[in-house]
Amino acid sequence: ASPALSRIGLAGLAVMGQNLALNIAEKGFPISVYNRTASKVDETVDRAVNEGNLPLSGQYSPKDFVLSLQRPRSVIILVKAGAPVDQTIAALSAYMEPGDAIIDGGNEWYENTERRIQEASGKGLLYLGMGVSGGEEGARHGPSLMPGGSHQAYSNVQDILHKVAAQVEDGPCVTYIGQGGSGNFVKMVHNGIEYGDMQLISEAYDVLKNIGGLSNSELADIFSEWNKGELESFLVEITADIFKVKDDLADGFLVDKLLDKTGMKGTGKWTVQQAAELSVAAPTIAASLDCRFLSGLKEERESAAEALKQAGFREEIGNVTKGIDKKRLIDDVRQALYASKICSYAQGMNLLRAKSVEKGWDLNLGELARIWKGGCIIRAVFLDRIKNAYQRNQGLPNLVVDPDFAKEMVQRQAAWRRVVGLAVAAGISTPGMCASLSYFDTYRRARLPANLVQAQRDLFGAHTYERVDRPGTFHTEWTKLA
Ligand code: NAP
Repeated sequence: ASPALSRIGLAGLAVMGQNLALNIAEKGFPISVYNRTASKVDETVDRAVNEGNLPLSGQYSPKDFVLSLQRPRSVIILVKAGAPVDQTIAALSAYMEPGDAIIDGGNEWYENTERRIQEASGKGLLYLGMGVSGGEEGARHGPSLMPGGSHQAYSNVQDILHKVAAQVEDGPCVTYIGQGGSGNFVKMVHNGIEYGDMQLISEAYDVLKNIGGLSNSELADIFSEWNKGELESFLVEITADIFKVKDDLADGFLVDKLLDKTGMKGTGKWTVQQAAELSVAAPTIAASLDCRFLSGLKEERESAAEALKQAGFREEIGNVTKGIDKKRLIDDVRQALYASKICSYAQGMNLLRAKSVEKGWDLNLGELARIWKGGCIIRAVFLDRIKNAYQRNQGLPNLVVDPDFAKEMVQRQAAWRRVVGLAVAAGISTPGMCASLSYFDTYRRARLPANLVQAQRDLFGAHTYERVDRPGTFHTEWTKLA
């Protein structure tokens, strides 16, 4: 008798694929797995045995893999984004039949997914682009899943995705996102928000360490404390843990030995590019990206420090830290971090809405905040409040004007300004916090100096202007009248 067919297949058994496959098998769904390099298939089969004899079957050729699946077939692909996905699709689709579905779980550029949806439909195949967040741990024990594309393909695996995703009190961290490449786009913006969160946390650390004089053990305690309140989140939690780790190669703490150069894989850059394309202001996310660029110039920064010292630059930190009230600084930084985060999420959400309008995706922002409450890297208690804000008012133009968030912004602004002011005076760069504060101040001011920019445009380019006191379009010969 031929062996029983698997309910689902997964191709690509690096960190993400291996762990997601074991997660699916553990939830009771028989799964077939395949990888271009056979050793990873063996590895995954071994893990399935060791982690509880999970129903997982290793396959060693695209044909055997595809033919080992129940029809209509669903195949998750978790390989490097870009050309490897096309190559994998080509290898597998040769054996797939109309009605079968391909689900790409990688961090793919959304337009590649839209192209592949077209190509797949030419062969009668269904296609989903599914953002997966939560890293290794999430993939194994419950990620946040963002599937977009064919609704039929989603329906075929909905029961699996619901069981495999992280679970929060209001359901599994998965929802059908929308048509086309919307799942990848939402994952991309999730990553952009993640860049912002990480930057803001690193600035809080910088201020507390260099202005407040806090030690690593004090920082560990503060971040643990913060993780019990409104800032409770995965990133704050792991930050507390990082400050506790001693160096295993030398004296001191490991965090102090890490080179101050941040890597990146592209999703943050895409987020900022898309924000610019759609004319959505996303200054906090852009600042976090810029900081990664600048961090990469380690040697140049070292020379700049020297060059400016030669030119007479003197650190002002000593003057600023004299007589500082440490307790108050800590509390101020907590509030500044929270308010800055709200502005960053507001930017990400507004980018999602703008794209949704452009593409007709009909994204449900409240539901997106809900599926980010668990499993993913930006999971945080305050996402529940963001969910509520959009559920109260789907058309909310900006998170900062939701009645609850507006109150919080007002309550926190004095502390926020004190932190940014201190940092500016001390010469400690806080680009994320400054960007958020400027965003808030620019957005909340009914009148901006844009009138002057418009006058300049009219003067040198006859671009015309509108007036505050009467309708119509005007042009003035400014230089003749001056
Ligand atoms: P990865 O390092 O991005 O990719 C390695 C996998 O891709 C291996 O299975 C490799 O097969 C396969 N591959 C590469 N080129 C191939 C080709 N030309 N043909 C067939 N297979 C090819 O793996 P990953 O870190 O697990 O990530 C997978 C996807 O999930 C990526 O899009 C990534 O951005 C995304 N993601 C990753 C994380 C994370 O924390 N790592 C989190 C969320 C999302 P071989 O073994 O044969 O080389």
